[in-house]
Amino acid sequence: MNYSSKLVNVKKDPGHGSHISPVYMTSTFVFDNAEIGAKRFAGEDEGFMYSRLGNPNVRELEEKVAELEFGEACLAFSSGMAAITGCLLGILQAGDHVIAHTDLYGATHAFLSTTVKKFGIDVSFVPFKTGEELEPFMTAKTKVIYFETPSNPKLSLVDMKSVADVAKQKGALTIVDNTFLSPYLQNPILCGIDIVVHSATKYLSGHGYLIGGLVVASKEIINPMRKEVQKTMGATLAPMDAWLLCQGIRTLHVRMDRSQENAQILAERLEKHKAIDRVYFPGLASFQDRSIMGKQMKGPGAMISFVLKGGYEQGVKLMNSVKLCTLAVSLGDVGTLIQHPASMTHAIMPKEEREKAGLSDGLVRFSVGIEDVEDIWQDLEMALDQKSE
Ligand SMILES: *Cc1c(COP(=O)(O)O)cnc(C)c1O
Repeated sequence: MNYSSKLVNVKKDPGHGSHISPVYMTSTFVFDNAEIGAKRFAGEDEGFMYSRLGNPNVRELEEKVAELEFGEACLAFSSGMAAITGCLLGILQAGDHVIAHTDLYGATHAFLSTTVKKFGIDVSFVPFKTGEELEPFMTAKTKVIYFETPSNPKLSLVDMKSVADVAKQKGALTIVDNTFLSPYLQNPILCGIDIVVHSATKYLSGHGYLIGGLVVASKEIINPMRKEVQKTMGATLAPMDAWLLCQGIRTLHVRMDRSQENAQILAERLEKHKAIDRVYFPGLASFQDRSIMGKQMKGPGAMISFVLKGGYEQGVKLMNSVKLCTLAVSLGDVGTLIQHPASMTHAIMPKEEREKAGLSDGLVRFSVGIEDVEDIWQDLEMALDQKSE
């Protein structure tokens, strides 16, 4: 089946044959007798027990996303951060070493630089692009290589296959946060990556109405994570949110295609604007990592970052001038969202670390939606012109 058809296709609900699954708003499930209850807890019967441990809507979502990411299994969490932290805590133990990319989502960076270290796990932040650049930083204790590609918010790329090859040779697991492109535009597992994490809050949902997270990997990795991390830590996705995600996923390709088309036009115009110093967008000829893009991405995506000549103050001014673009963090919504990392998402990151990762004070992050592209441009141009007065 073609990928687009896979996205749209739904499984008929076995109960009454409803086209779209009902929402199983229940905390617990009834056992017909003690033997069935015992079998379920022993893992000998597939049936449900309690919604923290599994629910039909959550299972439907997990099966769908495992298929879309070409993984064996998927585990849903109550947020992207729950998926990322749950995944790392499930795999790591005291004495392990983690290599994380310097360019990371703010909260992921905070978790790796503070919480993880409390458990006797050593973390190195390294700005690698290839396996070759990564290799010198690996030690016998390196258990996990963690990165985003494209990264947040500079959109720099990492060559997944070359990193996966080096990590495999040395016995480390690779984890990629694939939030920025969604499974429609990139599938890390096909490049040899072991684990894919998503903030489902973004493109998979597409409509800004929920918070959710997903981990996709082999059964060997997911099964213990389901038992240990999900069962005991309890960051379970709610049935209603799982249901909404299943609906959101059905239009992923259409939303992505339009957002990406808009982003291409806007990035080209932004690059020529006098108030702008630099535009980061994988679809531009000037983009630094074009050669990596061709190896692993089906398109440039719809996230644009640009640097204002006027720095921090002008970033704030732009945020206060836009009208159609919504001033909000998050991304991947059908509506265009704009934010200023230095004063918002990355304010949590020490300035020194921020600069090391190349995040200047004038950097603006822009998640392009599916509105009419001329309307978005008009809004931006108006706001940029005001700024440069
Ligand atoms: C939003 C985001 C997260 C965190 O996800 P939540 O659903 O907000 O917890 C992690 N990584 C990236 C790249 C994100 O954009």
